[in-house]
This record gives sequence, structure tokens and C-alpha cells, in this order.
Amino acid sequence: MPPPGPVFAFEVNTFDYIIVGAGTAGCVLAERLTASGRHKVLLLEAGPSDERFFVRMPIGYGRCFYDPAINWMYRTEPEPALAGRSGYWPRGKLLGGSGTINAMVALRGHPADFEEWAALGNPGWGWRDVLPYFRKLEDSPFGPSAERGSGGPMKVADVSAQTHPLCNAFLQACEQAGLPRSADLNGVNSEGVAHYQISVHGGRRVSTATAYLRPAMERAQLQVQTLAQVQRIGFEGRRATQVHYTVGGELRQARAAREVILCAGAINTPQLLQLSGVGPAEHLSSLGIAVVHDSPAVGRHLQDHLCIDHLYRARVPTLNEQLRPWHGKLRVGLQYLLTRGGPLALSVNQAGGFVRSRPGLSRPDMQLYFSPLSYTRSPPGKRPLMNPDPFPGFMLSAQPCRPGSRGHVELRSPDALQAPRIVPNSLSDPNDLEDLLHGAALLRRLAATPALAGLVAQEMQPGPSVQTREQMIEDIRARCSTVFHPVSTCRMGPDPAQSVVDTRLRVHGLAGLRIVDASVFPTVTSGNTNMPVVMVAEKAADLLLADATLNP
Ligand SMILES: Cc1cc2nc3c(=O)[nH]c(=O)nc-3n(C[C@H](O)[C@H](O)[C@H](O)COP(=O)(O)OP(=O)(O)OC[C@H]3O[C@@H](n4cnc5c(N)ncnc54)[C@H](O)[C@@H]3O)c2cc1C
Repeated sequence: MPPPGPVFAFEVNTFDYIIVGAGTAGCVLAERLTASGRHKVLLLEAGPSDERFFVRMPIGYGRCFYDPAINWMYRTEPEPALAGRSGYWPRGKLLGGSGTINAMVALRGHPADFEEWAALGNPGWGWRDVLPYFRKLEDSPFGPSAERGSGGPMKVADVSAQTHPLCNAFLQACEQAGLPRSADLNGVNSEGVAHYQISVHGGRRVSTATAYLRPAMERAQLQVQTLAQVQRIGFEGRRATQVHYTVGGELRQARAAREVILCAGAINTPQLLQLSGVGPAEHLSSLGIAVVHDSPAVGRHLQDHLCIDHLYRARVPTLNEQLRPWHGKLRVGLQYLLTRGGPLALSVNQAGGFVRSRPGLSRPDMQLYFSPLSYTRSPPGKRPLMNPDPFPGFMLSAQPCRPGSRGHVELRSPDALQAPRIVPNSLSDPNDLEDLLHGAALLRRLAATPALAGLVAQEMQPGPSVQTREQMIEDIRARCSTVFHPVSTCRMGPDPAQSVVDTRLRVHGLAGLRIVDASVFPTVTSGNTNMPVVMVAEKAADLLLADATLNP
């Protein structure tokens, strides 16, 4: 005889671990925690499956950028230092999360980034500690070495033979400007420029959903629930024990026998904590939310990378001619369908790297991007990335690596369905503006090298009329934008007043609750954040499994 209804319902809804958010980090954990067969895991994701043509085709990036079915499409508060503009912050809302809609540049960052993490009071997170996880997660195109890994889930592609020929002109320009060439941007010396390595395999996007989650979905211990939006975490005393979520408007509840793991990303994780009564007490009380734990750093210390693009009309054909006219689209579309190759199988960011924008710096301070196409970013709904400019053009972009400005994320209301308030405070640290000015000056130096000067018909943006320091500042305020790397809103650190999790990623002051996603970064890494998030999740899985062994 089966037990009576309520008890039976309670049992089927109890898991060892409940993972909130099947994004870059959540998919890694779902695989690693179920591999032994000993733990029962529920993975909850607000968005749908990632089985979509434009998600898997690399250049479909442009389509995903503004698709509300798979994108949270956040907007920041108007930014006084950015001419009052409200920034557009896309975030993936589907299996694989932002790693399923991102530009696929595969970069670890600079070793000094992680030395800084350790120096901030986080032993176990220095470069030599995290390197084994970077090696474990990848299948490097250069084979195994002391620095690179082989046979890991995330296949990384070297596409240097397939990129647009203009990339070579960019790399030559960098050499002529005195910038070093890197043999491997993820190798022993990450300084310099090169073709970007990307998360693509066989012409299809590689995300943690494809690399980790898909194989794990075969396992009986893993239950994946899509279209399930978590509303809040439930506590018994100071222990997180339940997750409340909705599926198709129906409220459901699941219990975690061991732990709840928040992997909802740098915007939604602090939002969920605050909705659950964990955050700055004053803010929570002002919204009528009962305070479970006063944690002032929840939602604070937000960091992000800003970037300035310089756009050039070219004298030679660029990707614009292949991607804009219908006959060009047809040609590259057929090429993709028949060979899984061509420009649709690549990222828009084809070359770049970490460089020093000026002498006297101890390490690279600037990430460069080269895109052999041009487009003017326009408001949501226009999908400009799929529609490049109607003339040959290319873009050079500079992104300062270590911004000093700090923003925050806070609730607008106690309603879980309302987007939180995102306040980046861009350029509130005056050094950030100086860094962007150095970046812009470097882009002009590159455009003036013999390798590029002959190819430039006209500097379209900022344009030749923008010359003085004041004009350059005005241009930066009017045009610079995020490159979608928000982090640190639940940062790791030793002081519960200044941070949210400890070095084992457990929430300070509470039991049964961890955070594993970009929000725990103590500081932003120098470059793109996806691979560092995968690394954090790989290390977190080891921490969780070690703790489970100690406490069976
Ligand atoms: C447009 C764009 C381009 C980028 N380009 C690059 C790049 O080229 N290279 C690179 O390295 N990085 C890039 N990034 C950044 C990188 O993808 C992110 O840093 C990384 O994916 C963050 O991983 P995460 O696990 O912290 O969060 P996410 O991957 O965002 O995962 C969070 C998941 O939680 C889910 N979720 C949130 N709230 C809830 C809730 N209440 N209930 C249930 N589920 C919820 C979300 O839907 C999502 O699936 C880009 C990002 C974007 C948006």
C-alpha cells in the first residue's frame, strides 16, 4: 500500500540538492553532483530548453540578444555618467543560461586576477589552485600541457584558419604598434593579441548545457524542471530547507535534505536572496520582507566591464557584405547547412587579447576586440547584430580590464516577477574614465598603423571631429557600453559585513545554502567571464562532494 497522499508528495519532492538556475554554473553542478549516483538533484530553470536553431548556430547570437523567450532583457537605471542612458543587460533565460546566448569567446583571464582573489582573504583560489580546474573543464585545441587540459567537457576551438582575412591586418597592426603576439591567450603567457579561441565544436555552440547537462540528463538521479521560476528560498531557523517556485502559474515546493545551491547569476541570485529575507535588513524591511539574515553585502559590490567601440568604413570587403544582403545571407546560410562552416559558425569577436595600453604598467590593463563587421547598436527590437551596416566596415574595441566603479542590485518590490533595480554606477571611479580614454587612444594608434591605415576609408565613430580630451570624454559617455560581465554581487570573502559567501561558497551566517555563479567572484577577472564561472562551478562541485563525504 502506498503511504497516504501528503507524505508521498513530501517524499517525491525531497532531493539531496536543489540547484536554482541551469545557467553556466548550474549545469556543471548538475552533472558533477549526480555522477556518483549517490545524490538526488533537482535543477530548476526559469527558461525553456536550449534546443533551438539560432541558439546552437554561433552567429545566432544576434537573434538571442533580444529574444524575450530566452532572455531576461534587463535594463539598468539611467546612468548619470553615461549621458543618462539606461543600459541594456541581456541575460540568458534557458538551459545553459547566459553561456547559451553569449559571444563564445573562451578566455580564462590573467593569472594575477586569481592571485588577487586569494590575497583578498580567499585561500584556495589563487592561480595555482584554480589552474587544475581550468585544465579539467576543457578540451583544448592545442592538446594537453602543464597549462592546458585535454578531454574535458568544454571543447575549445582554434578558429585561426577560418576567421576573416582582415583579422591578420589587425594582428599586424598590433605588432606595428608594439603590442606582443600571444601564442595562446589561455596558455603560459596570456599577454598579447591572437585569434580568439571560442566555445564552438563542429560549427555548433558549446555551452555547459550541451557539454555537461545533456549527458547527465540521462541519469535517474537528476530531475530537470524548465519553465520553473523560483520565488524564494524557505528556511527552518537558519537552515535553508525549501525552494518555492512556480510552473505555469502553479506554486510548487521542493525540499533539500542537504543544500540549496543558488546559481541564478549575478543579477538574479542577489534578487532571490533578498526576496527570501537575506540581504541588507533596512532595505528588506522597507519592502515589508521579514528579515531572516541581515547580510549587508547581498547585491552590493557589483562590477562590470565597459567597452568603447571605434567603427570604421573600410576600403575592402568585410563580413558586412556577406551577412547583410539577402543573397549573401543565402550563400553563408547554405555554406553553414552543408559544411557547418563559414562565418555563421564563428563568433563576431574574432581576434583580440590582453595588452598594456601604455608604458609603466605591471600587467595588461586592456582587452582588445576586433570584429570584421560593423553595426550600430540600437534599442531592443531592432536586432542590429543580424543586420550589419550597408557598407564595408569593421570595429575595434577596447575594454579596461579592472574597473574600480561599484554598483548594486536591489529589489524594486517584493514581487518575484518584477525585475530588480540594477544600478551599475558606471564611471563613478574617475580612473575608469581615464582607462577608457587610454583605450580609445590605443584604438586610434592601431587604426593609424600601416597595416590598417590603408584599409580605412573613414572613421565613422567617434569620427574625425572628435579630437580633444573633452570631446573624447563626451563620446565615451554617449557610446560606451557593457560587455555583459556583471559579477561580485554576492562576493566571496572572509568578512560577513563585506561579503556573502566563504571560501567554500557557503552563505555566511546560514546553513544549507551555497552560491555558485558569477556573483561570488571577489573581483571581476580581466576578460570574459564564462570560463571563470565554469572553473568556479568545477571547484564548487569538489567542495560540495568533499563536504558530503565528511557528513554522510
Ligand atoms: C550577450 C552576452 C555575451 C557574452 N559574451 C561572453 C563571451 O563571449 N565570453 C565569455 O566568457 N562570457 C561572455 N558573457 C558572460 C558569460 O556568459 C556569463 O558571465 C556567464 O554565463 C554567467 O554564468 P552564471 O552561471 O553566473 O549565470 P547564467 O549563465 O546567467 O545562469 C543563470 C541561470 O539562472 C536562471 N535563473 C535566474 N533566476 C531564476 C529563478 N528565479 N528561477 C529559476 N531560474 C532562474 C537563468 O534563467 C539562467 O539560466 C556574455 C554574456 C552575455 C549576456
